[in-house]
Amino acid sequence: YVKQQGGDDVFWYNNSLLELNADHLQLEYELKKATNEGQFIAYYQPKFALDTGDISGFEALVRWQHPIRGLLQPIDFIDAILSHKLSLELFSQVATQIAEQLTIWQKLGFDQHICINADAAEFSNPEFFDVVSNLLAQHQIAAHQLHIEVTESSLMKRHSNVKEQLNSLKALGVCLALDDFGTGYASLSYLQEYPFDFIKIDKSFISKITADKTQRAIVNAILALAEALDMQVIAEGIENEQQRDLLLAMGCQYGQGYWFGKPMSAEVTTNMLMQQHLSKNSND
Ligand code: C2E
Ligand code: MG
Ligand code: MG
Ligand code: MG
Repeated sequence: YVKQQGGDDVFWYNNSLLELNADHLQLEYELKKATNEGQFIAYYQPKFALDTGDISGFEALVRWQHPIRGLLQPIDFIDAILSHKLSLELFSQVATQIAEQLTIWQKLGFDQHICINADAAEFSNPEFFDVVSNLLAQHQIAAHQLHIEVTESSLMKRHSNVKEQLNSLKALGVCLALDDFGTGYASLSYLQEYPFDFIKIDKSFISKITADKTQRAIVNAILALAEALDMQVIAEGIENEQQRDLLLAMGCQYGQGYWFGKPMSAEVTTNMLMQQHLSKNSND
């Protein structure tokens, strides 16, 4: 295998996971062990207000700190988590880390929010709502500091209870975002059907936005729609300054992407917040 240490993460180009996938019992065993032993850890990618350039919050992106294989990316294990019905367990572990992180930041004087990814399948589990409300009850964080994002493609699977759960979460004060917007086929009806606060435009539209007139027109249409529906827009996958400038000029409020910052460990994220705080104060 080749282990490549990038600025972000460690990528594995080997067959061991494929072999592991072939061996379902082994995979199931490893996943259960990982959940029991707390091997899933949240990384954090910052979100920015495009006009001021300030950090507006973070998205938690899960990594599997595998004892032998190293740091694994969601693409290597999320599907397996879902198919082994471990997603509520994963959600609950990531959510607990988020609540603890928000508490730490609060003590340091950083008032932030963190967004957690959830698959729509999890909403069918009646325990999902209890996990969220218990979390808020057990930690000194406000409901609006927790955002939940759900992908358009997982909504398309039409799991039961989704609308009810989203409405209950919203009533609790949690903010909701529709992730990977534009990649599904029923986008517009979802905006009407579910109580989202934010739309995240998928990175596939952003990557071609400066070169491709059609992509630009689509993004413009999404921005106009969001404004009419009183929703805010986050552009995903901003990789260069030109994309940022164009999105800002088009009226997009928030952005996220490698150009601003890659997903980082909790420790690196905290250092970044402290450094930004220091440099801001010395500029005043
Ligand atoms: P997502 O929620 O749409 O997250 C964005 C993905 O794009 C992340 O990949 C992020 O690292 C990557 N990304 C961010 N900025 C850029 C950029 O400028 N360019 C490019 N090319 N990519 C960028 P990641 O961390 O591998 O996560 C992949 C997907 O896994 C996520 O997509 C999300 O759907 C899922 N996921 C991550 N964490 C969780 C979790 O805790 N639970 C569940 N159910 N799903 C999760
Ligand atoms: Mg997401
Ligand atoms: Mg996304
Ligand atoms: Mg995605």
